[in-house]
Amino acid sequence: MPAPSDGEGLRCGRSASVQGIVSSRVVAPYTKHVMPPPIELHLDDIVQTRKAHPCGGDTWRIVRLGAEIGLRCERCGRKVLLPRAELERRIKRFVARGPER
Ligand SMILES: [Zn+2]
Repeated sequence: MPAPSDGEGLRCGRSASVQGIVSSRVVAPYTKHVMPPPIELHLDDIVQTRKAHPCGGDTWRIVRLGAEIGLRCERCGRKVLLPRAELERRIKRFVARGPER
């Protein structure tokens, strides 16, 4: 005779924990529906990113605008290109604003 109560007990506990994970993840897509206002970027703006460059610097000068944004590390002078959406996610704050337009 099999003991169905054991199996059911396991399944029940498992599904409960899975549900907990799923419900906490569901929140993220909803917040993404609200489009954040686009960040205005100008040449010569200095921005600080959440993630520092391997050199230790975390401030960047904007040197190129387009589909991809060109950034120059203020510490080591290295240039990188980041898609605008990626950069907007990384920007922590503006350190200095370049001249308007
Ligand atoms: Zn650097």
